[in-house]
Amino acid sequence: LNGVFLGTRYESTAAASESSDPPAEKHEYQAEVSRLMDLIVHSLYSNKEVFLRELISNASDALDKLRFLSVTEPGLLNAGVDLDIRVQTDKDNGSITITDTGIGMTRQELVDCLGTIAQSGTAKFAKALKDKDAGGDNNLIGQFGVGFYSAFLVSDKVVVTTKSPKSDKQFVWEAVANASSYLLREETDPEKMLPRGTRLTLHLKRDCKDFAHPERIQKLLKNYSQFVSFPIYTWQEKG
Ligand code: ADP
Ligand code: MG
Repeated sequence: LNGVFLGTRYESTAAASESSDPPAEKHEYQAEVSRLMDLIVHSLYSNKEVFLRELISNASDALDKLRFLSVTEPGLLNAGVDLDIRVQTDKDNGSITITDTGIGMTRQELVDCLGTIAQSGTAKFAKALKDKDAGGDNNLIGQFGVGFYSAFLVSDKVVVTTKSPKSDKQFVWEAVANASSYLLREETDPEKMLPRGTRLTLHLKRDCKDFAHPERIQKLLKNYSQFVSFPIYTWQEKG
């Protein structure tokens, strides 16, 4: 894992914000996470589109978890909120937003799931890559999910907003590429409240802006949506 960091490091702490949100806290990633992200970005640069498969599969897993838990706890399913996935493209801002109405994450789950590589398939991927001493390898990518951090294949900045039915509060996780830390804060803006689930906003890298075109996303989605048992809707910002 001979990591070379490209681009700028994220030095910003809770910057002065115009909102009345509680201040953001800066958290360092577990050291392995930084190495893994570096590895993903450098080994998959020619397979960038895998990010969509990974993020859709996380959304689908989150919906599966909710559906499973709701068998014994029907109260988890708030009325009027369907189990689905929405992918919104915004050409003008060069961003993609993926929203699911799944199980979401509590604050602690955010820290555990998006700051460490405790349980995820990404650890196995990293080990296999290291063993092979290889660059990008399509078989490895197919065998192991590369996981959430693949969002940084195409993004300069990723913002995750999430609401678990286990908590009254909603939280925001935010990080830029090539950073050793992320920011965590509570969401208090009423306009940004989710009924439940997770919303990921990917601010695309300069050379990845074409992913914000709905045709591109729809074509990619066609390939995986057949394996997802929840509806996937695509939306676009009105021009
Ligand atoms: P894996 O899916 O193999 O566990 P990932 O890196 O893709 O690894 O994701 C890490 C963890 O982050 C997941 O196990 C899950 O707990 C959490 N997570 C990621 N995306 C979501 C989501 N959309 N909703 C809820 N939890 C999520
Ligand atoms: Mg995953």
